Formats: sequence, C-alpha cells, structure tokens
Amino acid sequence: MEHSVSRSTLKRFSTGVATKEERQEVVAHLLHECTICAAILRDLARPRVPARSYGAALDRFEREMRRALAPLPLPMPAAAPQADRDSSKEMLILV
Ligand SMILES: [Zn+2]
Repeated sequence: MEHSVSRSTLKRFSTGVATKEERQEVVAHLLHECTICAAILRDLARPRVPARSYGAALDRFEREMRRALAPLPLPMPAAAPQADRDSSKEMLILV
C-alpha cells in the first residue's frame, strides 16, 4: 500500500493541529485500512509519561487507603461498677 500521508501529517493529525485537508487525507487513507499508519497513529496517541511519574501518586494513594482501612481503635470499656468488697453486704444480698 502506498503511504500518501507523511509521518509529520500523522503527528499533526494526532495532536489536533492538522489542516482540514490533512485530516481528510488521513481519514481517507485510514479508510483504505492502512494498518501501518493506524499503528503509527496509535503509537502517537499513547501518552508519554515516564513510568516513575506514577510512583508518588500511587504511594500517596496506598498510604491513604491503609489509613482509611486501618482497624478503628476499640472503644474503652465502660468502667465497671466497683465491686463491693464488703463481704457482710455480699452475704446480705445473697440471703
Ligand atoms: Zn499508510
């Protein structure tokens, strides 16, 4: 297949700055199912972000998730009434 579309035109097309004539040329060419130009366009459309750019955001996300999912502190048990250590009263209650 003849590639009537230059790589620079494909690049302009992928960034949205191609002229109307260039856009029509690219679309007409792609409609003829040029897999090579389609692959070039897919590659041009792929975001160019260094892999480590996500590291800080993912670390922050993980910290926040761990904080959000951390078990809640157990509530302090209500103070139990003081047991009456007076055995005579205890006996009185039992009788
Ligand atoms: Zn082509």
